[in-house]
Order: sequence, then C-alpha cells, then structure tokens
Amino acid sequence: MALLFHSQVDDPLAWRDALIRLDPACDFRIWPHCGDVRQIEAALVWKPPQDLIDALPNLRLLINLGAGVDHLLSAPGLPPSIPIARIVDAEMNRMMAQYVLLATLRHHRNFGAFERAGRLRQWDYIHPRSAADRTVGVMGLGQLGSTAALELARQGFQVRGWSRSPKALPGVLTFQGEDSLHLFLSKTDILVILLPLTPETRKLIDGAALASMPRGACLINVGRGPLVDEQALIEALDSGQLSEATLDVFNVEPLPPEHPLWERPQVLITPHLASIALPESGAVQVLDNLKRLREGLPLLNLVDRKRGY
Ligand code: NAP
Repeated sequence: MALLFHSQVDDPLAWRDALIRLDPACDFRIWPHCGDVRQIEAALVWKPPQDLIDALPNLRLLINLGAGVDHLLSAPGLPPSIPIARIVDAEMNRMMAQYVLLATLRHHRNFGAFERAGRLRQWDYIHPRSAADRTVGVMGLGQLGSTAALELARQGFQVRGWSRSPKALPGVLTFQGEDSLHLFLSKTDILVILLPLTPETRKLIDGAALASMPRGACLINVGRGPLVDEQALIEALDSGQLSEATLDVFNVEPLPPEHPLWERPQVLITPHLASIALPESGAVQVLDNLKRLREGLPLLNLVDRKRGY
C-alpha cells in the first residue's frame, strides 16, 4: 500500500524521514512523480489539486495535513465514499495555543500601540490592566480552541468559550449554540476565532456580531478568513468599534498587495501559519491509520462530512 504526499507548504522530505524512521517499509511517494498510481491507497495532502484526486483509482483514505478540511469538502469530484482523516496532535494544539497567547498578550499589553508610538519616537504611557480585568472569548472549543482557552485561563484572563454542543472546561465560562452568540460576544474584549469553516459558520462574524462586542474590542482570527465578513471587519476597525486585529487567515490567500487590510496600522497580518502539522509527532498517527486501513479496523480522527468538520 503506497502513501502519496502533496503539499505546497509542508516539507515532503521531513515527512518521508519521520514516517520511514518509524516504519522503514512505508512506501512514500511524492506527487506528481509517484510511479504506478494504482498502488496508491492513501494520500497525505494539503490542498490537493483536482488532477491528483482524479488520478488515483484505488484511493481508500485521505489524510489532511492539518486540522481544517473545508478545502477538501468543497473539492468537486472527491468521492463521498472516501473517508477523510485529519491530523489531531497535541504539538499542533500547543503551537496554536502559543500563537493565540502571543496575540492576546500583544493586544492586552498594548504592544501594537507601543510599536506605532515607537515609530514616531513617542513615549506614550498606557496604564496596564490585569489579565483578570480582561475577558477573552474563544469561538470553537475543539482540539485547538479548548487548548488555547485553557492556556488563557492559566494566564489569569477571564475566559469564555462558544461551541455547538455543551462543554465543561475548568476556568472557562462556556456558551453553546447560535442563541447564545450575542450574549457570549457582549462581554468579550478579545475575540479568538477558532471555528471550522462550514455553511453554518461562514460570515458568522458580521457587522451585527462585531457591534455586539464592547467598543474597542480586539479580534484574533486563526480559523478561516470567510468566518468573518471582511468588509464589516474593515468598517469596525475604521469606526473604532474594533481597536486592533491579528489576522492569520483571509478570504483570499495570499492576501493581495492592494487589499485595504494592509493599510490599517492597527492590524497585524501573518501568512496563515498559526499552527502546522508537525512530521515528528504527526507521523505516528498517519502510520496508525494506515495500519488500521490495512487491517480493516476503525480509522482515527475522521471528519464528519455531514457536519463539515
Ligand atoms: P475541531 O476539533 O473540529 O473543533 C471545532 C470546534 O468548533 C468545536 O468546538 C465545534 O463545536 C465548534 N463549531 C463547529 N461548528 C460550529 C457552529 N456552527 N457553532 C458553534 N460552534 C461550532 O477543530 P480544531 O482542530 O479545533 O480546528 C478548528 C479550526 O482551526 C480548523 O477547522 C481550521 O479552520 C482552523 N485552523 C487554522 C490553522 C491556522 O494555522 N490558522 C491551523 C489549524 C486549524 P462542538 O465541539 O460542539 O462540535
């Protein structure tokens, strides 16, 4: 059983080495130089091109090189019978929690304001607030969101979280379902978006949602760009409803040079890298799923296609 690899951002050789170190018999192929495609039964991919999917007559498992599967679910021609697994990894959760903590602290401790003042050689004193005086709201309490929420709580922030189904996390006030969205947002000073992109969550953060947050709130989007109405985001930044934003994901990536978000000094832009699948830790579960596939055992970390995540 051969495993095909494709990603434009992940290093194929690092994945090959990590997999072969654990299983020297692993038949690892790299798209598009992958030999006899009939031997390929599993693919480890990030944003695979359509011709890759079309070229594999015996594909039995797609493993997504990351947590978000929206790009796979929207790919035309992906047979519904092929299961999609994703990488679920403590190291990936930690990397995301670190990004979220860094961005939260940067907003909380006014570092953006100091960077802007520094460029003007201005000594602008802003009296610090304690973390206990700041409420951080995390949307999405799955693998990534719950790890980030717990880390924020550990740092002393008032943390609230929002998800589809009820959750119990120590130190986190939880809300669930659409009916509680505005209540959840109404006291959220710093909003962290860690939802998957589905038909239900697309543009969930629109003008009305932003308006229901306290004036001067901050937004950190590490989920997917289309979760937020970008025009409403720009208007909220320009009106002062939002004071700052940290954005890792966008409607169009790479963000085009002429995009108005680049011109907003209160916005920090990072190029979609808040967290990645790491070969060293991810290889174990890739091999585990291949073994399960061979032996006809239940696969791990499967995506619920109907739910969309
Ligand atoms: P996950 O484990 O599947 O968790 C998703 C969470 O979102 C769950 O808590 C789920 O609620 C909640 N949710 C889904 N639909 C909802 C809805 N309609 N209303 C309320 N809550 C809803 O996903 P994850 O591994 O934490 O990843 C989350 C997302 O992060 C990914 O889908 C991806 O888009 C993004 N991501 C970004 C990067 C980056 O580098 N920027 C890296 C990795 C992932 P339930 O718990 O009730 O099901």
